[in-house]
Amino acid sequence: MRSAYDDLSAHLRAAALLGSTAALLAWDQETFMPKGAGDVRADQLALLAQLQHERATDPRVGAWLAACDADPRPQLDLDQRANVVGWRRDFDRATKLPSALVAELAQLESKAQQAWVQARHKNSFARFQPWLERMVALHQQKADCLRAPGQSRWDALADLYEPGMCAKDLRSLFGPLRQRLVALRERLTAGRLVDDSFSRVVIAEPQQEAFVRAVVTAMGFDFSCGRIDRSAHPFCTRVGADVRLTTRFHRDRVLDALGSTMHEGGHGLYEQGLEPAHLGTPLGEAVSLGIHESQSRLWENHVGRSAAFWQWCWPQAQHHLGSACAGHDAATVFAAANVVRPSLIRVEADEATYDLHVMVRFELEQQLIDGELAVANLPSEWNRLYREFLGIEVPDDRSGCLQDVHWSCGLFGYFPTYTLGNLYAAQFAAAADRELGGLGPLLARGQFTTLREWLRRHIHRHGRRHTPAELCRLVTGSPLSPEPFLHHLESKLGGVYAVSSSR
Ligand code: ZN
Repeated sequence: MRSAYDDLSAHLRAAALLGSTAALLAWDQETFMPKGAGDVRADQLALLAQLQHERATDPRVGAWLAACDADPRPQLDLDQRANVVGWRRDFDRATKLPSALVAELAQLESKAQQAWVQARHKNSFARFQPWLERMVALHQQKADCLRAPGQSRWDALADLYEPGMCAKDLRSLFGPLRQRLVALRERLTAGRLVDDSFSRVVIAEPQQEAFVRAVVTAMGFDFSCGRIDRSAHPFCTRVGADVRLTTRFHRDRVLDALGSTMHEGGHGLYEQGLEPAHLGTPLGEAVSLGIHESQSRLWENHVGRSAAFWQWCWPQAQHHLGSACAGHDAATVFAAANVVRPSLIRVEADEATYDLHVMVRFELEQQLIDGELAVANLPSEWNRLYREFLGIEVPDDRSGCLQDVHWSCGLFGYFPTYTLGNLYAAQFAAAADRELGGLGPLLARGQFTTLREWLRRHIHRHGRRHTPAELCRLVTGSPLSPEPFLHHLESKLGGVYAVSSSR
């Protein structure tokens, strides 16, 4: 006889198939789709989203979940129990939002994004202000539908991306982190001048592509279940059983191509490391955005920006990039990959100042959503925080508060996951370093699959079995802390800039 679990599982696995079909269409839209197909593609994606939502919120799902919860017999094994917990969370979230609000949000998001593009082009916050005001108001309504008694609005939205995270915990992580990062930034400006000319050497695209492919192959990315293509903004998406990465090339920015590809490759290894048997269930999904980002940052920064990696990588670079490498060596390129230069634009920021950009956004969006800051005052507050955190003056809104797409498409509570990713990455890398008897020698020999297997065993294969906080404790033995990240940056950059790494 079929159990409630069987019915639930079959029904929601089909919803996941609709989701992966939509992912394929979305991937195609960003990579190969001819321009003229855009309108129909939007209709196709909207239809699939609607079908998926109908399946996810079908009242029978609630009944099956209740039957699974009520069944006193120990029929379900641990995996099945974990799936029921995940499905319950998804169902409650999906059914808490009235469909009229969901439709209104979808419409507003698409219009607000267009308004943002115009406003940024015209360098005019005033053009975007009414749209952002409407977005904030609707997201306050959304938060009111989602939030538990006593939970703040911003916390309810952040929980969508990082289950269990709240503004209070973030403040206690970010406070000491910010102080030490600001102090580090100030110390490094007094350090030696680092030669970063390799970052600007002109190299033809096919050579760059062969080089980054060789690196991703060495990382252990499985091309029998994955591929790499190009898009304007690099991303990684899972299409059912296979994983698609994209990257981009500029003729005079080979380190950007390498960093972007290793970053997306780290996301891709996480997706490829989820258990195939759990496909279409919560155990076959990534646990949170912060943990996902930790996998990309670990490969991009702890591997790709390490001295040991460049010992292995330099001969590869010479092989693929040829004469472009003349006059450089592993040590100078390692230093070039670690230049610190406070800048206005988050996506161009270096490893030491990136999180200061994130903290500006966290402060401001938390105040916007919790009603402590009026949208009209956003530009002046933005500029004030850039002065305080990064020590730079913002000349205009285009390179200030209009630079990110996130708020125009309704992503409130999302930004902190970037910094959480950096903190998790450092704590995981330190644990791997302890358990594998030192990461340096492995990376210098190009033995990346040992690290990949460690990540797979400790993080990837668990899917959504644990909360991010539980996973962090299980993998590293401690709750999340800014210390491993600060130690990593202070010791590495202290060496690159020849300044004392002590505070
Ligand atoms: Zn990422």
